Amino acid sequence: MTQEKKRKAAARAVQEATGLRYTAALRLEAASRPTDRPSFPLGTLLAECATKPAAEVDWGEDIFTDYVPDLFESDIVGGAIPFTSVLALAGALSAYGPKDELRVEYLDPLDEAVVASRRRRFLIRMLTGGIEELCRKPGCHERPTLERIIDYCEYHVARCDTQALVSMAIDLGTDDRVDVDDALERRGGSRKRTC
Ligand SMILES: [Zn+2]
Repeated sequence: MTQEKKRKAAARAVQEATGLRYTAALRLEAASRPTDRPSFPLGTLLAECATKPAAEVDWGEDIFTDYVPDLFESDIVGGAIPFTSVLALAGALSAYGPKDELRVEYLDPLDEAVVASRRRRFLIRMLTGGIEELCRKPGCHERPTLERIIDYCEYHVARCDTQALVSMAIDLGTDDRVDVDDALERRGGSRKRTC
């Protein structure tokens, strides 16, 4: 079996086990393969971002390069990464400080990377220079049910142990009521359905 066929078979197995769409299962399978890069503090990535020059990047013929972000070659990430993604990451993780330990969970050069800290995980999109928060479960490519409060996707929150569920319930209860209502309203839900 070729490497590609093995990957597709593994993705189908993930799809059957999780009920995810095939593309999501393919990504989850890819992300579950461990990378061998060591972890690093957020501050080290920020130092690279502040000192590295913009890299010459060949996006291929199909990309209109006027709208792509500037990237730099990151030694610690192991590939080119947008300056704006690192700055957005620093903003999202600012509460944890520059010593917060990160690791690259997944890297598809010039496409996507998943960078994770102990508690939070982010998808970096190379083409747009943005970041997206992901479910806290390593390897998962889905979004959290409710960012910063219920930090697992619907699939994984249903599989949390009692202690984790109680902890999330306390977070939900103690969070500012107005913020929770706003977040739920954006998702089209209601407090009654969630609690
Ligand atoms: Zn998940």
